[in-house]
Amino acid sequence: MDEMHYQLDLLKAMNEKLLGNDKMFRMICGTSSNAFLFYSFSENRFETLGCWEQYFEFEVQNQTDFQNILRCVKDEYSSVLEAALFCERAGESAKSAECEMAEGSKWVEFEVTISYDENHRPSEKIVRVRDITRAKRQTEDLKYMAYYDALTGLYNRNYFVRLLSEWVRKAQTEHAKVSVMCIRLDEFRKINDAMGMIAGDEVIQLFGLFLKDLQNEDTIAAHFYEDMFFVALYDPFGNNTTEHIYRKVCNRLEDTFHITSGSAEVKSTVSVGVAEYPESARNSLELINCAEIVMLQRSEKGRNSIEYFETPMLTDFMENIQLENQLKEAIESGDFELYYQPQYDSLSNKLRGVEALIRWRKQDGKLVSPAVFIPIAEKDGLIVQIGNWVLEEGIRCFKKWYDKYQYPMMLSLNISAIQYKRKDFVHKLLRLLDKYQVNPELIELEITESVLIDDFESVVDKLHTLKEYGIKISLDDFGTGFSSLSYLKGLPIDTLKIDKSFIDTVIDDNSTRVITESIIAMVKKLGCETVAEGVETQEQFEYLKGINCDNIQGFLLGRPMPASEVDKLLAAV
Ligand code: C2E
Ligand code: CA
Ligand code: CA
Repeated sequence: MDEMHYQLDLLKAMNEKLLGNDKMFRMICGTSSNAFLFYSFSENRFETLGCWEQYFEFEVQNQTDFQNILRCVKDEYSSVLEAALFCERAGESAKSAECEMAEGSKWVEFEVTISYDENHRPSEKIVRVRDITRAKRQTEDLKYMAYYDALTGLYNRNYFVRLLSEWVRKAQTEHAKVSVMCIRLDEFRKINDAMGMIAGDEVIQLFGLFLKDLQNEDTIAAHFYEDMFFVALYDPFGNNTTEHIYRKVCNRLEDTFHITSGSAEVKSTVSVGVAEYPESARNSLELINCAEIVMLQRSEKGRNSIEYFETPMLTDFMENIQLENQLKEAIESGDFELYYQPQYDSLSNKLRGVEALIRWRKQDGKLVSPAVFIPIAEKDGLIVQIGNWVLEEGIRCFKKWYDKYQYPMMLSLNISAIQYKRKDFVHKLLRLLDKYQVNPELIELEITESVLIDDFESVVDKLHTLKEYGIKISLDDFGTGFSSLSYLKGLPIDTLKIDKSFIDTVIDDNSTRVITESIIAMVKKLGCETVAEGVETQEQFEYLKGINCDNIQGFLLGRPMPASEVDKLLAAV
């Protein structure tokens, strides 16, 4: 009997302990944000624990209820999950799926753990259900940031390069073609400057949205930065060629962009550069670079244009880049020299003055022509520094000559349009004249018609200011630009330089003679002086003198020379 009591007490104690464990187990599960499903194989019994009701609207009591879990799972994940849930050997990793749950759509992770009896048969299974929506969204956001441009929703640069690389690889095996278009909005800068960054962003967004609609499985678009977009076409054909896309873009741009922030309508044109695989480049980065190079060269030429890459362009471009870098170094180390070419009065043969012409002496001693480096310097603004140096060096030498020889000659200085348009140009020039105590009436600025193109009125205002100080203005290269004699009337010009191209043909070509003669007659009536440039032969000289051209400049009478040679020239007059 005692034995019996003892056994009963033991069982009771064990039961209490078991109940205690069970309680503890339930409490632990209850504090978790996970839901658990317990299944006993031997008893064919299910039990749910934790926050089950936050996930599922049903209890699981039998196999049919268990099946219901799959109903919540979105179709594309159901087969993977079915295998995981119904297995009798646990898989290696947890499976996640998008599910429609009691509280709406969630990303849920299911982790199945199975225990086995001594005969290796499954005895229990626990399915842990975990809400991973937040982590998943964060990953999606990161992915989005990694692939897409936040402003436009188009692909970003990195992802575009990746997709393009895949296309190039595919095109290699399929012998297909890949075209890359670099598209830039010409007016973006102006809109941004005039209306602010938010308006600028709106234009980018609207244009981005438009490009997004052009995308299909063979066309992708990306926003790189600011106003720079790229479109790539896989095996362009039929209605999906660069020309088609370009035309669609131009059509869109005939309409305005509505800017809500400034409540305004703005318009822009585009510059487009195209590079193609395999013709112009071998890989994605080359394609992008080449398309950009063509676009950049194009955007200088004008509005709404498309240009295709040709190989020599790359060579030119690389050479220019190299020159540009060398030019920066040359400015640092002062590798410039100023040469002077004499101009003579055609009737008296007296020295009228000298034109200052810059030379760049490279480290290897070779001289680079200003015709090569001035256009490069104008492109990136280096011309301002170079031009300032020319002004100071020219005026400094001129003062020395004047003090030494007292000879009343002119100094002609070439002024780039970019330099001329700067607000401080007149002020700087006057300061230099004051510093070296040079009479402004002996200074002549040579400008070209390109100065007049943009803002005619402010250019003319500036010319008047210069004239008030006595500074002379000479119109260089006359005959090469739009050269209308009628607009000359409105300009306060003192001298007109007839371009070398006229002088070259004036002897042999009758019509050139007619034009040259009428230019000279007309200019004289306006009260301007004339200078013929590039006079190389005695015949040209005599002819020009005969038609009353006032001054002659050219190799015939003197080549551009260093300052020391001018000294000799002045010593002899
Ligand atoms: P430009 O102002 O039209 O200068 C005349 C150019 O013709 C000079 O070339 C001169 O050497 C050349 N030349 C003069 N007479 C003859 C001739 O009889 N035959 C031939 N074949 N050529 C002749 P250069 O010195 O090479 O200058 C080229 C251009 O570079 C200049 O054309 C001017 O536009 C620009 N440039 C030169 N110096 C400066 C400068 O200091 N500032 C700026 N902004 N431009 C400059
Ligand atoms: Ca000149
Ligand atoms: Ca000239």
